[in-house]
Amino acid sequence: MSPRRIGVMGGTFDPIHHGHLVAASEVQARFHLDEVIFVPTGQPWQKADRVVSKAEDRYLMTVIATASNPVFSVSRVDIDRGGQTFTIDTLRDLQTEYPDDELFFITGADALEQILTWRDADELFKYAHFIGVTRPGYHLDDHHLPRGKVSLVEVTAMAISSTGCRERVRAAEPVWYLVPDGVVRYIDKRRLYKDPSP
Ligand code: ATP
Ligand code: MG
Repeated sequence: MSPRRIGVMGGTFDPIHHGHLVAASEVQARFHLDEVIFVPTGQPWQKADRVVSKAEDRYLMTVIATASNPVFSVSRVDIDRGGQTFTIDTLRDLQTEYPDDELFFITGADALEQILTWRDADELFKYAHFIGVTRPGYHLDDHHLPRGKVSLVEVTAMAISSTGCRERVRAAEPVWYLVPDGVVRYIDKRRLYKDPSP
């Protein structure tokens, strides 16, 4: 069997929104990926300054958002490992799970720029090809990234962020159509983002 091409979309997904889904779908089509695995983080060290929703809530919202797409799935590797998530650990675990397949790590341009500050940055490129998603007009300075290991893809502008969604819920403004319907319901049911952070 020829190696499958597997996209890996890491994120806090607090909450998952249509920007994430459009980016994953666009990359899946353009890179002919057989599957895209969404991987919600454990407690993310990049966001130590704010309270992140429980892993189980972020996991379930990601499942709800991706359930109807036959080539989208969700992995618990980062949540079940526990502690802070480092991308190198995510890729090592998925490589173990899919030893014969090719991994494509999908990340926003903002995160890609920080890539060399990540732990074991050089090693990351041994495990996966990196795909940086940019928005039209966004200039990414890529001269310091290793040649042939990173591709940049421009995705139709989607000015949606999880931060924006949380602020809207806090302010009792609607998030309909920014996140999938089931995620709107789930946020409401679990009263996420309503109360001030402790
Ligand atoms: P926050 O506002 O809390 O930082 P976020 O919207 O950036 O959240 P993350 O879970 O941090 O969401 O993002 C996961 C990945 O998706 C990151 O690589 C990020 O760059 C990318 N991403 C986030 N929003 C968009 C968007 N609107 N379009 C394309 N990619 C996005
Ligand atoms: Mg972000």
